[in-house]
Amino acid sequence: MALDLKDITKDLFYYLGIPKTLLWFSRSCGYPKWFIFTYHRVSPSSYNNNACLNVSCDAFDRQMKFIKDNFETVSMLEGLKVLKGNFSKGIYATINLDDGYMDNYLYAYPILRKYSIPATIFLTTDFIGKDHLFWWDRVFNIVSSNNGTKQSAHITNSINARLRDKDENERDELIKGLQGYSSSKDVPSYAMLGWSEIRRMNANLISFGAHTKTHRNLCLLEDDEIRKELTGSKKEIEEKLGIEVTEFAYPFGIFDDKVKILVDEAGFRCARSTLQGFNSRETDRFLLTRIAADSLSKASSLAVRTSIKSLKAYTKGILA
Ligand SMILES: [Zn+2]
Repeated sequence: MALDLKDITKDLFYYLGIPKTLLWFSRSCGYPKWFIFTYHRVSPSSYNNNACLNVSCDAFDRQMKFIKDNFETVSMLEGLKVLKGNFSKGIYATINLDDGYMDNYLYAYPILRKYSIPATIFLTTDFIGKDHLFWWDRVFNIVSSNNGTKQSAHITNSINARLRDKDENERDELIKGLQGYSSSKDVPSYAMLGWSEIRRMNANLISFGAHTKTHRNLCLLEDDEIRKELTGSKKEIEEKLGIEVTEFAYPFGIFDDKVKILVDEAGFRCARSTLQGFNSRETDRFLLTRIAADSLSKASSLAVRTSIKSLKAYTKGILA
C-alpha cells in the first residue's frame, strides 16, 4: 500500500499532541470560535464502507472523543448565543448530520450519548420512514462498482457538482446513461429515519432541523415551490414533535439572495451552508459555515484542520 506523506505528518502531529496545544493556545484569543462539524452517514466499516459520505463508527467515535476533549460542545441555538455574548470566548463545537439516514440512530446516536454531545439532524421530510435512494447515492453506487471507495468519492463529488444544477429530468437521463458503465445492476435503497426513532432521539440530546421536503436545489425553483419546501418541512416536524423548528440547512449548501430571504421569512432563526470554516461574531446567521468532517476519515485530520484554522484566526486577531 502506498504511504501518504500528508497522512503520516497529520498522524505524527496528532500523536505528539500538537493540535491540542494549538487549540488551547488559540482559545485565549478574545472572541469565540464556533465550529459546526457536518456528517451524513455513520456505520460500521464492515457494513457500509461502500456508501457515499459514510464515516465508520470507529472513526466517528475517535472524532467525538477529540471534540469532547478539546471543544465546548453546544447545540445550534447555544452556538448562536455564544456568538452574541459580549464576554464569551473559547472554542465551541456542534455536530450536524444531514439528510436523515437510519444509521444516524443506529450508530451515531449511541456514540453521541456516550460522550454527551448534542447534535442536530437535518431531515428531508418526504422520505421519513421510507427506504430511499438519493440520486447522489445512485451515482456513487455506479462509480464505486468500477473503482475503489476513496477514488469513487472523489469522482462522485465532481459528477455531483455538475448534476445538482441540472433540472430533474435532464439529471435522471444523465444518470441512466451512467448506469450503462456500472458493473453492478443491484442498486440498494437505504432506510431513512422514522418518527419513532426521531422522537426517541429528540427526548435526549438531539435536535431536529429542516432540510426541505425533497432535497432539491432551491435556486432552480420558483418562489412558491421554495416556500412549500421550506414551510412544508418545518411544519411537518413541528406537528409531529410538538416543538418549534428554528434551524435550516440548504440542500447541497446551495443558496442565493432570494433563497436566503425566503428562509428568514419562513421563520427559521439560522441556516447552515456548506461554506468551509468556523463561525465568529461577524458570521451571518443565515450563512453559517461548517467543517465537512465526513471527508476527514481520521481524528488526526479533523484535529489538524481545526487547530490550524483556529491558529490562523488567533494570528489574525493579534495582528488586527
Ligand atoms: Zn443534504
